[in-house]
Amino acid sequence: MNQQFLKEIEIGSKNALVKKRIITHYIYSGTSTITDLSKELDLSVPTVTKFIGEMCDDGYLNDYGKLETSGGRHPSLYGLNPESGYFIGVDIKKFAINIGIINFKGDMVELKMNIPYKLENSIEGMNELCKLVLNFIKKLTINKEKILNINFNISGRVNPESGYSFSLFNFEERPLAEVLTEKLKYKVTIDNDTRAMTYGEYMQGCVKVEKNIIFVNISWGIGIGIIIDGKVYNGKSGFAGEFGHVNTFDNEIICHCGKKGCLETEASGAALHRILLERIRNGENSILTERVATENENPLTLDEIISAVAKEDVLCIEIVEEIGQKLGKQIAGLINIFNPELVIIGGTLSLTEDYITQPIKTAIRKYSLNLVNKDSVIMTSKLKDHAGIVGACMLARSRMFED
Ligand SMILES: [Zn+2]
Repeated sequence: MNQQFLKEIEIGSKNALVKKRIITHYIYSGTSTITDLSKELDLSVPTVTKFIGEMCDDGYLNDYGKLETSGGRHPSLYGLNPESGYFIGVDIKKFAINIGIINFKGDMVELKMNIPYKLENSIEGMNELCKLVLNFIKKLTINKEKILNINFNISGRVNPESGYSFSLFNFEERPLAEVLTEKLKYKVTIDNDTRAMTYGEYMQGCVKVEKNIIFVNISWGIGIGIIIDGKVYNGKSGFAGEFGHVNTFDNEIICHCGKKGCLETEASGAALHRILLERIRNGENSILTERVATENENPLTLDEIISAVAKEDVLCIEIVEEIGQKLGKQIAGLINIFNPELVIIGGTLSLTEDYITQPIKTAIRKYSLNLVNKDSVIMTSKLKDHAGIVGACMLARSRMFED
């Protein structure tokens, strides 16, 4: 990627804006002809031809050959040149991180899943994270100057536009994106983890033509990603989708947000973990009974609980089902409000497949309006535990070229 163009993007020249729109068009549509592109951008064919010529010369676009048509004319198809730039995504979990890199066309070039990392909200935790990312970059065989952006998925309140994180790694008076840019010496953007998963699923997962989508991330916490008319909805400051902190239960359980009775306190990975420990300690049987005895030194992970479900541990299954019912009742409310075409059940707990989705579906039918829920297809995430990393990489690319 030519440094001149990157500078133009920063300054926001008129030509750079048109080029950004052309790149964004190809991000979403793959390849197209000059005629289609001129219609899409509402620009004349000669103007578009001039821009395409320049962008091919500069290496952002490739001529992908003639389109086969029944008529006499065979217009050329253009698309992104995979080698003109690379984008890195970083997906942070509670006990590991995933790092991936895509080329300009969006193909995953290198992916490292489950790199051991213990998430701690401390400066040391942040420095360790940077070390792992730099280590990943060091081992890459591509030209490092072609890495154009790194996007981090951050849990909690995040403003993607200003680059501020308010829940995690918020140690300075300036945006986290700026702090990370300084530490890594590459451009950095950040976004909320659930929103990144939603975007990943939208770009490369189970979404086909649907434009109105709710993605439910059931992991340690609960969040939703909202897509309205094909656009990810952020809200005013990027805080939209905090479904897990809707006051739902009349209980005395204090949520990590500091309030009582949040949805997350009884229906989330954290709740599954807490309830399972309580019930095992009260003498109920589970294949995890012995494992729980060492919980204090070595915390039980959600992955371990999910594999117990896969081994048909009755206690774990029962708790997952109860969580599914409680969540389904609240998702029914979301369906009444948003009338989505598609509701995607994703996140770590979605790996329990039918054990969680069946009670969710039953509760949705029971508690949402009949006419409304007929419009909504309920699906399990196709990308599963890759949704976050795919989304992080895709966001690293699209965030560079947004208007
Ligand atoms: Zn809360």
